Amino acid sequence: MILLGSTGSIGQNALAIAQRYDLNVEVLVAGTRIDILNAQIAQFHPKQVVIANASDIHKVNHPHVRAGSAAIIDTIEHSGSSLVVNAMVGFAGLAPTMAAINAGKKVALANKESLVVGGAFVNTSRIVPIDSEHFGLWYLQNGRAIRRMIITASGGAFRDWPLEAMVNATLADTQKHPNWSMGQKITIDSATMMNKLFELLEARWLFGEGEYDALIERKSLVHALVDFVDGSMTAHLAHANMQLPIAYALRGRVDEPLLPAMDLVAMGALEFAPIDVARYPLWELKEDVLRHPHKGVVLNAANEAAIKRFIAGEIGFMDMANKVKIAYERFDARPRSIDEVYAWHEEVYQTVLTL
Ligand code: NDP
Ligand code: MG
Repeated sequence: MILLGSTGSIGQNALAIAQRYDLNVEVLVAGTRIDILNAQIAQFHPKQVVIANASDIHKVNHPHVRAGSAAIIDTIEHSGSSLVVNAMVGFAGLAPTMAAINAGKKVALANKESLVVGGAFVNTSRIVPIDSEHFGLWYLQNGRAIRRMIITASGGAFRDWPLEAMVNATLADTQKHPNWSMGQKITIDSATMMNKLFELLEARWLFGEGEYDALIERKSLVHALVDFVDGSMTAHLAHANMQLPIAYALRGRVDEPLLPAMDLVAMGALEFAPIDVARYPLWELKEDVLRHPHKGVVLNAANEAAIKRFIAGEIGFMDMANKVKIAYERFDARPRSIDEVYAWHEEVYQTVLTL
């Protein structure tokens, strides 16, 4: 496989699965955490390595290192691997996803932003998602008529904070996720609930038109539910560990114990609650976003710019949702091609940087 984003949270879990099942890693792609990358090179012996910046190449212990986004695309196009695991973060993941599909490869996709912004132009038959909720929905499909698909949210770092305290939340506060250990950006997206808007769009592109919704389940043990037309409902339960969806995405099946069994008695009560728009103002966009999924490019670009400004200390935590909502109202993006997705991304992103 080619692994994009090997030094990140999903990337490291993907390598744990590669080691467990003795899968071949042809290419490692990482950003700036060269110390972690060097340890991975020593363990997995990739043929090629690509990193973000040319100025770091001399630090990498490998004879074939290149740098930059063009090198990532070129490496995908010329590699022999039939599987690309895309665990990069943000809009930067779109071009590699498109290149991999165009090169006839299968994509194990953690980079949900690819689908959020470009879902209309992505051949999803070549994609297997690495996201616990979509894995759960896939696991539950049984060919019967579906009324609605539901995914769950933990509520993120501020689910129990007094509402008035959230305006002062810091970057460090956003990173205290109650149930999952993930990269910085998705942990912010969990606190704002943007992650769940993204996942509804991701589900829409993966599973087609239909009814989608999300609910809070605080223990992150139920990941997805399918509400069937006949009145039955089934739920997917598993411990909060990305190695399960990753193993399925990489191998297609898992026939031996991978995670500890679910213990219903130890689990205790499970509760489901609606997502409160006072705590998560972005949730007001849900219905509109699902009706106009092509506006995902606006949602994502505004979010990336707002997060950049929040991390820089320029705007507060609650300002992120405000900026995204203003941009969402202002830009009626209807991209007709992937090139137009790039153009809309740039326009919205630049606008929100100074909004
Ligand atoms: P991380 O921030 O932990 O990892 C991101 C990876 O991308 C790192 O390896 C980083 O390199 C690399 N990267 C970033 N920019 C570049 C670049 N320009 N060129 C090359 N490599 C780059 O994120 P996560 O692993 O948490 O998330 C990755 C994706 O998976 C996101 O889209 C997220 O939404 C999704 N996802 C994550 C889940 C999770 O449990 N973490 C669950 C479901 C989906 P470096 O660190 O070396 O700079
Ligand atoms: Mg998820």
